[in-house]
Amino acid sequence: MSEPAGELSISQHAFAYQPPPIDGDFFGKHIISVDQFQRRDLDILFQAATSIRKRIRTQDRGLTELCAGKVMASLFFEASTRTDMSFQAAMRRLGGDVIAVSNGVRFSSMYKGENLSDTIRATGCYADVIVLRHPEIGSSYEAGYYLDLLNQRIDNPTVAISGGDGIGEHPTQALLDMFTIFDQKKSLDGLTIALVGDLKHGRTVHSLAKLLAYYDADDVRLCLVAPQSLAMPADICKLVAEHGIHVQQTDDLREIIAQTDVIYWTRIQEERFADESAYSRIKDRFIMTPSLLAQAPADAILMHPLPRKHEMGTRADHDVLDADRRSIYFEQMENGMFVRMALLVKVLRGVYV
Ligand code: ASP
Repeated sequence: MSEPAGELSISQHAFAYQPPPIDGDFFGKHIISVDQFQRRDLDILFQAATSIRKRIRTQDRGLTELCAGKVMASLFFEASTRTDMSFQAAMRRLGGDVIAVSNGVRFSSMYKGENLSDTIRATGCYADVIVLRHPEIGSSYEAGYYLDLLNQRIDNPTVAISGGDGIGEHPTQALLDMFTIFDQKKSLDGLTIALVGDLKHGRTVHSLAKLLAYYDADDVRLCLVAPQSLAMPADICKLVAEHGIHVQQTDDLREIIAQTDVIYWTRIQEERFADESAYSRIKDRFIMTPSLLAQAPADAILMHPLPRKHEMGTRADHDVLDADRRSIYFEQMENGMFVRMALLVKVLRGVYV
C-alpha cells in the first residue's frame, strides 16, 4: 500500500503491513484487501455463499450453530447502511452475537483523543472479529498490524475485516459484487464490464477492478467511464492490464453501452471533495436514466453499490429503473449478507460444509 499525503492518525506500521494471502485457507486471517485473493479463494467463498443462501431459503436452523458463542464488534467511523447491517444480520443468522459502542462510536474513547490502534486492541480484547470502517486509507492495515501484536498476548485471537477504508478499498463489497456477477452471468469469460462514475474516490470500484484482474478469466474487457478528474487511479489500471484484461477509458458511456454485459454505476462521492465547487461542476456528468438503460443489451445487468442519489435520475426514474429486470442492485444487496456469512464462517471456523 502506498502512503497518502497529509496528516494521518494511523501509524507508519500500517504502510509496511502485508495482509496474509488467503491461499485456500481463510481461518484466522484478517480481510484487509482484495490483494489477498486468488481465483481459487473466490471459488471456495462463492460456493459457501451459495450453500448458505440455499440453507436460508429452506430455513435450515443448523445455520445458527456455525458461529454460536462468537462475538463480532461493529466499529464504524463512517456512515453505513448496507455494510453494517448486513454484517450484523450475517453474524446473528449464524448464531453469533454483535457488540458496538453504546450510542455509536462518537461516544467511544476516540472522541477523547484515543488513537485507532488502542481502540482496535481494546475491541480485540472483547470480540472474535472486528468489522472496521474508517475514513483513512490504511486504517484496516493498522487494525491488522496491531491485532497481530495483541493476539500474541491474549488467548483469544481476533480477526479484522475491513468494511471500507476511506477512498482505498472495500474488499467485502467487491466479493459480493463478483458473486453477483457470477450468479447472473455464470462466468466472467468474454464479458464486457463498465465501471461508471467516480472511479477516483469510489473504493468499491478500486477493489472490484483488482478482483476482476485476480480472477484471471479469459477475454474480459473493462471499460472505465469517468471524467478525467475522477479517473481510476493509474496503478489500478496498470495492474488490471498486466492481468490480461483489455482496458478502455472513456468519458462517454453512449460509446460502449450497447456492447456492455455488466454496467456498474456509482455515485459521485460528494463527501470526498475538498472543494464544493469542484463537486458541483462534475455531479451531473453521469446520470443513469430509463432512456439510457434502453440502449443496453436485453441481457445486460445494472449494478450499484448504493446509496444512490441523483446519479440515477429522479425518484420517478428510480421507480422505472427498479422495475427493469436488468436492474439487480437489490439482489446484489441481499447477496452481500450471504457472502459476509460465508466469510465470517470461514475466518472464524475455518471449514464450512
Ligand atoms: N456504500 C459504498 C461504500 O461504502 C458506496 C458508496 O458509498 O457510494 O463505499
